[in-house]
Amino acid sequence: MDIRSRFGLRPVINASGTMTSLGASIVSAPVIDAVAQVLPQFVEIDDLQRRASAAIAEACGSEAGYITASCSAAITLCIAATMTGDDHGLIERLPDTSALQRNEVVIQTGHLVNYGAPVDQAIRLSGARVVPVGAATEAHGYQLNTAITERTAAALYVVSHHTVQFGMIPLEEFIALAHAKGVPVIVDAASEYDLKRFIEAGADFALYSAHKFLGGLTAGIVAGKKTLVRAAYFQNGGIGRGMKVGKEGIVGAIAALEQWQQRDHVAVRARERGYLTLWRETLNRCDGVWAEIDADPTGNPLDRLKLHIDPRQARITAWDLADALARPPEGEAPVIVRDHEAELHFFFIDPCNLHPGEEQIVLARLTAELERARQSPEPVVTPFYQRDARRVAARRNWPD
Ligand SMILES: *Cc1c(COP(=O)(O)O)cnc(C)c1O
Repeated sequence: MDIRSRFGLRPVINASGTMTSLGASIVSAPVIDAVAQVLPQFVEIDDLQRRASAAIAEACGSEAGYITASCSAAITLCIAATMTGDDHGLIERLPDTSALQRNEVVIQTGHLVNYGAPVDQAIRLSGARVVPVGAATEAHGYQLNTAITERTAAALYVVSHHTVQFGMIPLEEFIALAHAKGVPVIVDAASEYDLKRFIEAGADFALYSAHKFLGGLTAGIVAGKKTLVRAAYFQNGGIGRGMKVGKEGIVGAIAALEQWQQRDHVAVRARERGYLTLWRETLNRCDGVWAEIDADPTGNPLDRLKLHIDPRQARITAWDLADALARPPEGEAPVIVRDHEAELHFFFIDPCNLHPGEEQIVLARLTAELERARQSPEPVVTPFYQRDARRVAARRNWPD
């Protein structure tokens, strides 16, 4: 029995990636088991978080760590830590930072992205002021150097496909410039596979989502220097209270970190490569479609299928095709693709969150929708601005 049918929910197939809006990722059986075991029991949370600190230290190569509600919460709380230190009086005063000498956070303009909410809001929630560095598509070390003053509390670096992928200050230079002025660096690495790289590079904090590639429950993982991690943990007695994680999230994250170290990464990659090759070979035979295997933009060891759609030949646009896949005829499975750049006439299919067998359903739905478009009397071409407006409007009346 699929609990989704009990709730009247459509059984979606996730060919999009680890998206909060789709329920993040597939939580693995050992994680579910660990969480089920702790749920009926009492624990001393400080001790459980000590255990988490050790697990994070081992996985990330950091001095310490702790678990919070989400990576977004981790951004806010780590910035708070850089402003208050372990002073509980200051912690309780946040988000009022008027008496603090250091309450500014520098971040490259090309890193001011929206991962479901704007990253600058995660900064401002702490009471800090955002100081953007450089232009959207271009930032330089000298600009960062000037932006860092005696009011700077922290420097935030975002690693993500969302950010501008060129013209940014390399992480190593960013860290060197910030550290030269005694400013700690926080790396938002929510979706990155490499748990050690950012700490090794000298980051004071590296932040991850437990519910993305790690396959844990929804939670945020903070790895970093011990005094700073302690100051971030103490925010639970302040602004962090509304971002708290329960025992299930902490145990889920510890179990997910352990699982990650045992996961057969080579076998997973080979299986995904099989799906990608099957999709590419089949779809490249369809009119107006050009499929290629595309490496992850931030260097994670994963590939996606990039599907270019020529609307004249395929008789459907990339975004109309994505919408058709998400709104299937009665009795068929909705397939959600990765379409955040669809106006450029392509979208991606992501193999990472498919259950075995779903790769065939994804392919069958794609070929069926392409064939439907080929046969349709009129080409399926919604002006892109209308599509965007329709999407925004579709959410306005929630919960209706
Ligand atoms: C997903 C994501 C976040 C938010 O992570 P949550 O754990 O879902 O709050 C922050 N930054 C980046 C770059 C992300 O991809």
